[in-house]
Amino acid sequence: MFPNRRECQNPIATPSDSLWLGFTQMGDHESLSIASGEGCWLTTTDGQRLFDGVSSLWCNLHGHRHPRLDAAIRAQLDRVAHVTTLGMSGETTQQFAAALVAKCPGALAHAFFSSDGASAVEAAIKMALQYWRQCDRPRPGKTRYLALGRAYHGDTTGGVSLGGIDYFHEIFSPLLFKPLRGPLPCSFRMPAGVTSSQAGEYYAGEIEVLLQEHHDSLAAIVMEPLVQGAAGMITHPVGFLGRVRELCDRYDVLLVCDEVATGFGRTGEMFACDHESVTPDILCLGKGITGGYLPMAATIATSTVYEAFLGQSHERRQFFHGHTYGGNPLAAAVAIASLELFDELDDHDDDLLTRVRTNGTHLRRRLSELAERPGVADLRGRGLMLAMELAAPTRSLQPLNPEFDRAQRVCRACLGRGLWIRPLGNVLVIMPPLIASRDELDWVVDVVAESLGEVDAL
Ligand code: PMP
Repeated sequence: MFPNRRECQNPIATPSDSLWLGFTQMGDHESLSIASGEGCWLTTTDGQRLFDGVSSLWCNLHGHRHPRLDAAIRAQLDRVAHVTTLGMSGETTQQFAAALVAKCPGALAHAFFSSDGASAVEAAIKMALQYWRQCDRPRPGKTRYLALGRAYHGDTTGGVSLGGIDYFHEIFSPLLFKPLRGPLPCSFRMPAGVTSSQAGEYYAGEIEVLLQEHHDSLAAIVMEPLVQGAAGMITHPVGFLGRVRELCDRYDVLLVCDEVATGFGRTGEMFACDHESVTPDILCLGKGITGGYLPMAATIATSTVYEAFLGQSHERRQFFHGHTYGGNPLAAAVAIASLELFDELDDHDDDLLTRVRTNGTHLRRRLSELAERPGVADLRGRGLMLAMELAAPTRSLQPLNPEFDRAQRVCRACLGRGLWIRPLGNVLVIMPPLIASRDELDWVVDVVAESLGEVDAL
């Protein structure tokens, strides 16, 4: 057993354990305390400047302390900080709902708000089940879900049930419902004999086999479209998402897309679904929804789904779900300001999505110079959601943990040079704020290159 923190002699352990950090081993955690931020940069309590290379866990879009976002919150504070969305709502929240659904694909038209990505997924799971009880042709037997291989949908019990990352999820199995497990539709390690142009069809074929057998009991397929973030930035083959949409229609199963990580411009389109012109029945959003400022998430339904919940109060058809802070007006105010920034043009007449595409291409090209090195297994991602998978060490390291150690060492070396990135297992995640400049992106690549060199030279 690891010793209790109070007995732990580790000299680099955090001096204070009153704050318990998520997904962090508190017993050997190196204290890193942030005092302030500006643009893509954070300043530690000790005065070190750090580039926020993972956008404060994938949510910051426009940088820290953006004047427009700060002002939106201040202005809302002069009106009201919080009102509920149970039975009433604030006008700022109403305005945001309208602005948000206007950006969403197709017939997605009704936004249900909560506070975190995991809650958005929980709401989607329950919405899908209740939909099948109450739709025109009720199918109360549809109570199961299909999730992809290595799925990650947050840390609440429903999200963990859908999850397929044993390292995180296995321990909680006594608490969980069991989904049907689909393939991991990986575009870079494919089954023998399958080419990249066949891969989308191949994995969709595997989904279809499951649907043929289980469609009667399936409420929904829940999936991250295009890129499975926490799985290790696993990119899907082109065409897979579109084929899943067709299959859901054919087998009468709802499609729930979890865009908590991919939404709000990350992949170079507003939503990853837009790359394949797909409209899910339910869309889950979080993280970047407020530009990375305040907790907010949304579960957005098509009119078909929404209308199954309409009726008279005594009929008890309302959605039996609600969160105290869902739709908080301060969060809604900053979320409106964040959406507005997507519509603005820079000096070259480019909007933010155009810049994500061009800067994403540039960053990827620069990182591909490093991908030639021994010890780099793969470079992948979309837009400004990139990752570099590391292979076995080139020289004989004595890793503390053979599975994760090299990426952690590289991240630690980056930190020494002023770049904050956090690995996913053996994958280096590079997800800067969407506004990062070319110079900053070039600097990030230089730091990663030097850090890889430093670790390999050990
Ligand atoms: N879904 C996906 C795809 C995610 O990446 C995450 C968070 N990384 C979540 C859900 C959960 O979001 P939150 O941490 O805000 O609960």
